[in-house]
Amino acid sequence: MKKSITTKNPYTGQVLKDYQYHSENDIENILNSADKTFEKWRTTDIKHRTDLLQNLANLLEQHKEKYAKLMMEEMGKPLNQGIAEVEKCAKLCDFYIANADHFLADQIIETEAKESFISYDPLGVILSIMPWNYPFWQVFRFAVPTLTAGNVGLLKHASNTTGSALKIENIFIEAGYPKGCFQTLLTNHDTIESIIGNKTIKAVTLTGSEKAGRSIAEVAGKNLKKTVLELGGNNACIILDDANLDKYIDTIVKARMQNNGQSCIAAKRFIVTENIYDQFLELFTKKIKNLTIGNPDSKDTYISVMAKESLAEELENQVEKSLEKGATIHYGNERKNAYYQPTIITNVSSNMPIFKEETFGPVAAVIKVKNKQEAFKTAANSRFGLGTMVFTENIKEVYKEISNIPDGAFFINEMVKSDPRLPFGGTKASGYGRELSKEGILEFVNTKTVYIN
Ligand code: NDP
Repeated sequence: MKKSITTKNPYTGQVLKDYQYHSENDIENILNSADKTFEKWRTTDIKHRTDLLQNLANLLEQHKEKYAKLMMEEMGKPLNQGIAEVEKCAKLCDFYIANADHFLADQIIETEAKESFISYDPLGVILSIMPWNYPFWQVFRFAVPTLTAGNVGLLKHASNTTGSALKIENIFIEAGYPKGCFQTLLTNHDTIESIIGNKTIKAVTLTGSEKAGRSIAEVAGKNLKKTVLELGGNNACIILDDANLDKYIDTIVKARMQNNGQSCIAAKRFIVTENIYDQFLELFTKKIKNLTIGNPDSKDTYISVMAKESLAEELENQVEKSLEKGATIHYGNERKNAYYQPTIITNVSSNMPIFKEETFGPVAAVIKVKNKQEAFKTAANSRFGLGTMVFTENIKEVYKEISNIPDGAFFINEMVKSDPRLPFGGTKASGYGRELSKEGILEFVNTKTVYIN
């Protein structure tokens, strides 16, 4: 078993740093510290907690370039996209500064009792297992509401973003949070089972692949611990005959290509009705050809490299298997190490990996359909359920479809995206539970009924 983690810059191929895994003893100390901190932290008032959130937001704003550079080095995110990610984390703090108080307030319910209400008590130590694709956002999305509700957090980050994990732990300390409030665990898969089984851990949240989700949910289930799972997606982006392509084509391209295509809510299957198909393909291709490719440290770069060479290889494999089944490369498909050229594939059918599986990189599968009915039927043909987006000028007609699509999100004339004000999460193989908004802050609380006669 490996004793350390080595991080590597996927753009330059250079080794960044070695980190020793925490020993069994270290892990025990971290869990004890979290448990002890919780006993004090849970009694702090909400004003104190939101004051600390303000400090967090200030630090994020102040050092956004530095944090973006760290993400860039560890997983290749273009600098500008990293800065936007850190700014979004600060906005998330602002949202809970303004709303946590009323989200967590006791809710009076009239019954025959003298007094009856619901209170929302924190659960305790919550373990998060997070991915590398948005190294800051994924962690803050968990930690900000969870800590503000009075819990304490532990983070097992993706190994390739260990520097970001330690930096985030440090940001919480700098913001004034007690030391055991948010801690990073440097550990591998083998120790997770015993950590989840430890009585200190009250619940687990994971963002990552379906495989990781199934494995963590199994262990948590055995230990009767709540889980929130935000797993992969295979979002459909439906383009109907009357879509306003001039207005929305940039959004449609961004829906697939941002973050080098490595987003769970990215548009992965472009389902296009036949009367607009040629026009769409021409415009989409033109825009994709024009994306600026290069070094992630340039603020002009839109596409750089994928986070790990192994991910690019995996994507190449999905594409190759799809080509064997009759798909056609319309544009792109060059790979060099962790770089994968933005790619458009046509003649896609539902038995191909690029239709059935999550493609976590800059590859767009374009599917031609006859009409709106076929478009929605094709979109719903997925094991995943994160979100669907539709582009049309006839919103009224599409409105009827909202209840027919069993996903966690339905966007019309906009790409599926997360927003602190709105719940975020999926159905089916995309997981369960919700993050962000009121729903997110109430995931890790004990919803307690109080009845006084
Ligand atoms: P993983 O799901 O394997 O990794 C995500 C996180 O889970 C990492 O912290 C990883 O740790 C951890 N993890 C995975 N399995 C276990 C386990 N058994 N016990 C404990 N921790 C575990 O994603 P990959 O990086 O391997 O990417 C593979 C695919 O997953 C992608 O191609 C994409 O399809 C999907 N994915 C989806 C994401 C999303 O946002 N929905 C995000 C990332 C990936 P470690 O780094 O140590 O392995």
